[in-house]
Amino acid sequence: MAEPINVTVTGAAGQIGYALLFRIASGQLLGADKKVKLRLLEIPAATRAAEGTALELEDGAFPALAGVDVFDNPKQAFEGTNVALLVGARPRTKGMERGDLLEANGGIFKPQGEAINAGAASDIKVLVVGNPANTNALIAQQHAPDVPADRFTAMTRLDHNRALAQLAGKLGVSVEALKKVTIWGNHSATQYPDVSHATVNGSSVRDAINDQAWLADEFIPRVAKRGAEIIEVRGASSAASAASAAIDHVYTWVNGTAEGDWTSAAVVSDGSYGVPEGLISSFPVTAKDGRFEIVQGLEIDEFSRTRIDASVAELVEEREAVRKLGLI
Ligand code: NDP
Repeated sequence: MAEPINVTVTGAAGQIGYALLFRIASGQLLGADKKVKLRLLEIPAATRAAEGTALELEDGAFPALAGVDVFDNPKQAFEGTNVALLVGARPRTKGMERGDLLEANGGIFKPQGEAINAGAASDIKVLVVGNPANTNALIAQQHAPDVPADRFTAMTRLDHNRALAQLAGKLGVSVEALKKVTIWGNHSATQYPDVSHATVNGSSVRDAINDQAWLADEFIPRVAKRGAEIIEVRGASSAASAASAAIDHVYTWVNGTAEGDWTSAAVVSDGSYGVPEGLISSFPVTAKDGRFEIVQGLEIDEFSRTRIDASVAELVEEREAVRKLGLI
C-alpha cells in the first residue's frame, strides 16, 4: 500500500473546515483509493475545537483516513505535506479598513508560505480559500521562493459552480450539459462570470439564452453576489458549498479536466489575456498530469475586456497595498 498523502487544512475548526474534513476523510479529495493523513492547523484558541473534530473524524471509521494530527504551529503543520488547503483567514470586521484586513492576513499567510517553503513535500499543491483569497495566495507564494509558483492557487471554483447552476436553471438543463464557462479575475464582487465561449449540449449558451440583458443584469451580479444572498437567507455565510468547491478544485487539479472542457481557478498569471505577470487571477484552465494550464487563444470581446480589466485592476491595487505594507 502506498504511503498516505499528507493534507494540511488551516482554520480546521471553522465552518468550512467542518464541512471539508469529512469529505476529505471519505476519499473525495484525491480519490477513494488513496489514503490521507490529515494535519489540522488552528490558532491556539481553536485547537481544542479542532481536536473535537478529530474525535468525530475517528468516529467516522473512514477507510481512507490514515490519521489526524492537530497543530498550532505552521512549521509542524506543513512538514511533509502534499496538499495544503488554506482556509483560515482573518475576516473583515466592522470598521476595518482594507489595509488592516490585508495586514492581518499578511501576518497569517507570510509564515504559512515560509513554512511551506521550509518543509512541504516536493509535490506540494496549495489552494487558498480564506479571503481575500487571491492576494492571500500571492503573499504565501512570495514567501515560498523554492516552491514552483504554479503550485499556489486560489479558489474561484465556487463562483464557477454557482455560474453553472444559474445557467442550468435558466436553460432547464443539467449542469453536465454545460461546458467552457469561465470566471475571470478576483474572487470578489468584481469577478467576471463569462459565457462567451460556453456551450450547452454543444451549442452556444449565448444564442440559447438570447437575452443579453439577463446575462449582464441578472446572471453576472447574481453569481458575483451569491455569497451575500446566502448570508441573507441562511443567516450565516456559505460553508458546505465552499468546502465542496475546494474538493472539486483539488480533485480536478490532480485528476484532470474532461476532454473539450475547462474549469476556473485563480493561478499565477504568465501575462495571458493582458493580466500582469505574477498576479494570482482567475482564468479558464485545463488540468493534466497534476498541472493547471491557462486556456490560450480565446477571443475576448469588448464587453468581456472591460469586465476582466476591472477585476484585474482590483488585484493590482491589492498587490500594491501589500507591497506598501511590506508583506511581499
Ligand atoms: P469559515 O470557515 O466560514 O471561512 C473561512 C474563510 O474562507 C474566510 O476567510 C472566508 O471568507 C473564506 N471563504 C472563501 N470563500 C467563501 C465562501 N464562498 N463562503 C464563505 N466563506 C468563504 O470561517 P470561520 O470563522 O467559521 O472559521 C475560520 C477558522 O479559521 C477559525 O476556526 C479560526 O480560528 C481559524 N483561523 C486559523 C488560522 C490558522 O490556522 N493560522 C488563522 C486565522 C483563522 P469571508 O470571511 O470573506 O467569508
